[in-house]
Amino acid sequence: MEIEDFVILRRDLHAHPELRFQEFRTADCVASHLEAWGFEVDVGLAGTGVVGTLRGKGPNSILLRADMDALQLQELNDFPHVSRNPGVMHACGHDGHVTMLLAAAHRLSQRKRLPGTIHVVFQPGEEGGAGAQRMIDVGLLERCKAGAAFALHAWPQLPVGTIASRPGPIMAAGVRFIVTVNGRGAHAAQPQLGTDPITTAALMIQQFQLLVSRETDPNVALVLSVCMFQAGETDNIIPNQAVLRGTIRALGSQAIANTMERMQQMAHLLARANGAEAQVTFHQHYPVTANNADAVTVAFEAARSATHKPPLAVVESPPNMTSEDFGFILERMKGAYVLIGNAGASNRCSAMPLHSPNFDFNDDLIPIGARYWEAIVDRYFESEMAA
Ligand SMILES: [Zn+2]
Ligand SMILES: [Zn+2]
Repeated sequence: MEIEDFVILRRDLHAHPELRFQEFRTADCVASHLEAWGFEVDVGLAGTGVVGTLRGKGPNSILLRADMDALQLQELNDFPHVSRNPGVMHACGHDGHVTMLLAAAHRLSQRKRLPGTIHVVFQPGEEGGAGAQRMIDVGLLERCKAGAAFALHAWPQLPVGTIASRPGPIMAAGVRFIVTVNGRGAHAAQPQLGTDPITTAALMIQQFQLLVSRETDPNVALVLSVCMFQAGETDNIIPNQAVLRGTIRALGSQAIANTMERMQQMAHLLARANGAEAQVTFHQHYPVTANNADAVTVAFEAARSATHKPPLAVVESPPNMTSEDFGFILERMKGAYVLIGNAGASNRCSAMPLHSPNFDFNDDLIPIGARYWEAIVDRYFESEMAA
């Protein structure tokens, strides 16, 4: 396959996005190509996950990961490869991640000799599904005993091909919360006869922000956002119930644990003080995505290696408060999560923010990303990490 074929493949994936754990068409496409190129292929891991392995000489191996899922979002682009699937869109570039890793897999499969064993992992459910953890649960890391793991994410805030990463935390730990406030409904003009859950929930929103600004060391990166406030049906009835939903993100799990505990206490105290009851539940815990310093060095050296003429620009990334389930893999093994610039003049959607209905992966990145993946493999097996 030539680069033009991978561009066609990427646009086909973009036109046929699939939500988390429903990536059947995408997984079939991935598996059939890997099989054709001589990989040992396992399918159906955590539902739709695909793992391909190319055995090389030597005892060392490397794990390369791409995510496959799309988002629940109506695409607003009007180019020919716009999503054919209403309300579902590749707005996070995972169509491109799959394509770059496939293009790299193709190039690696054509080599006569490999410096070590290469595992390519195509995972489902990155967007809020903790697909990486689900693959670990069904034995991913026993199947792929690798010395290091790497992942790339297209990044619209950087020029096409620029490499950005950092040792230590690059993505935040996160947890989502649901606070249910139960009061007692009444006439809007007779609040004294009921218990208003709306005013109590409003106090909670204020109090939760104080946990960030007044109880957390200002040097600790922590953000709490209430993103949903649901209550009531009409304008003259105090409802029985109010529900708040949102997320906490931090660069350390201790800050999140402290805030969760204090949210519980505050929700119950404020509810009690106002004659209501509160229930707080947490779900979807993601760990910090923390890079290993040696793996970041491998990633940076790969960008500067002879594979790229001229070398790819390398910048030190600040940590991001977004979360990423590759963190589950980096809890278990060394590795690096690397951002690769997506913004370029040839595609006006390539600089739109991730998760925007106008975002598009930049096809100019396919050959760059494929060669970069190869350079990471080569540099890794030459490095002390693989020694
Ligand atoms: Zn995303
Ligand atoms: Zn993403």
